[in-house]
Amino acid sequence: MSLLSHTRRFISSSFRSSNFKSLRLMSTIEREQEVIENLSRIRQTVEKLRKTADARLVAVSKYMPAEDIEYATKTGQTHFGENYVQELVEKSKKLSSSIDWHFIGHLQSNKCKAVAAIPNLFVVETIDSSKKADALNKACVNVGRENKLKVYVQVNTSGEEAKSGVEPSNALEVCKHIKENCSALELYGLMTIGMKDRDAKNNPDFEKIVELRQEIKSALQLDHFEASFGMSADYEEALLDGSDNVRVGTAIFGARRVKQ
Ligand SMILES: *Cc1c(COP(=O)(O)O)cnc(C)c1O
Repeated sequence: MSLLSHTRRFISSSFRSSNFKSLRLMSTIEREQEVIENLSRIRQTVEKLRKTADARLVAVSKYMPAEDIEYATKTGQTHFGENYVQELVEKSKKLSSSIDWHFIGHLQSNKCKAVAAIPNLFVVETIDSSKKADALNKACVNVGRENKLKVYVQVNTSGEEAKSGVEPSNALEVCKHIKENCSALELYGLMTIGMKDRDAKNNPDFEKIVELRQEIKSALQLDHFEASFGMSADYEEALLDGSDNVRVGTAIFGARRVKQ
């Protein structure tokens, strides 16, 4: 029996008719165990299915408390994704500087500076225009970031009006712009969200982003160029299709308070 479940049984048997405080303690331990179990299982699946050794799992922790992230780090997880600038800034101040943060939300130009100022920000996944790239580049220069900030260009592979991202036919142009004009940014790949509830097999969003990764990598003669795709519902298929970066939230932390 693991120490955790042992502790849990001890607590529940000792405090069967417990007061509020011990109930709270119990639920904290159970929550820790839940996050660790979910994440350990998914980390194993990622290792098993990924096509390249450096394809990574990003644990999407939006709306989840900082404690959940601390539990998750106990499995060896270091990459975490957040959608809201304010939430990311607060969590990055509170939590370990060894976390590699991914910004995966819609980036507004007036928030670029706050994002650029996070020292352990690993990548901004949501550049959706050359103009946005320029704004982030300028912010990086202004805050005096030590190293280039990695960026993915978000592509609207499904053509849905409500989705952010560049049209597939404009992706090369935006990537070229970043490579040639944004000296504080490192062009690192593409990202797509894709349409909800696609069939797992032959997902056209995945096919499109993989095709674009190859095209742009060749056209711009890049040594390393990634594609970020796959979420809770389809990360296994995404890994089999060659995703370099799957972003999984619900399957690790459970349903969110506010629907995304
Ligand atoms: C919320 C979010 C995710 C995680 O979604 P789940 O379905 O909970 O795994 C991944 N990518 C982006 C861009 C998100 O906003």
